[in-house]
Amino acid sequence: TSTSEPIRLEDHIRDIPDFPQKGVLFKDITPLLQDAKAFHAALDRIAAHYAGAGIEAVVGVESRGFIIGAPLAYLLNCGFVPVRKFGKLPAETSSVEYALEYGTNVVEVHTDAIKPGQRVLVVDDLLATGGTVLAAIELVERLGGHIAGISFLVELGFLKGRERLEGRDVFALIKY
Ligand code: AMP
Repeated sequence: TSTSEPIRLEDHIRDIPDFPQKGVLFKDITPLLQDAKAFHAALDRIAAHYAGAGIEAVVGVESRGFIIGAPLAYLLNCGFVPVRKFGKLPAETSSVEYALEYGTNVVEVHTDAIKPGQRVLVVDDLLATGGTVLAAIELVERLGGHIAGISFLVELGFLKGRERLEGRDVFALIKY
């Protein structure tokens, strides 16, 4: 029956041309999130990839990384650590500035959120140029954390973010 066919996750990603600006083809993951079977399958597949990898914390990048990261932490039976945009975290933070196509952005993490030697999985919804996830990696490594994996729902291969993450374990469910 059709219900036993494997779920094609790419069928649940919607292309929005010229968002947020002209020339960008935005990969909208909200159809995947709102489909119970697709959302469940996506999380199960990432969790299965890291089963036995000894992940001790999941770091999610604001804000779509939170949507993936928190349920993944639950499935991997470990804690969740938010990397947030500047000014949102209340306690002592470490921050890093990184380049965007136009201008820069600052993200932060609580300095007590990662313990030295802790095995960390960094997650975001999508890998484009890699700038965002590299900022999160920098924060984790500054606090002494070990990057055990980097995971995405979607990878835009033509932007070559993976090359900037060379030598690291990068896992993406859907590649374009
Ligand atoms: P980057 O830092 O270039 O790897 O960009 C990754 C971040 O920007 C992620 O948090 C994505 O959510 C977002 N992003 C970049 N490009 C796209 C795109 N074409 N569609 C959807 N989200 C994108």
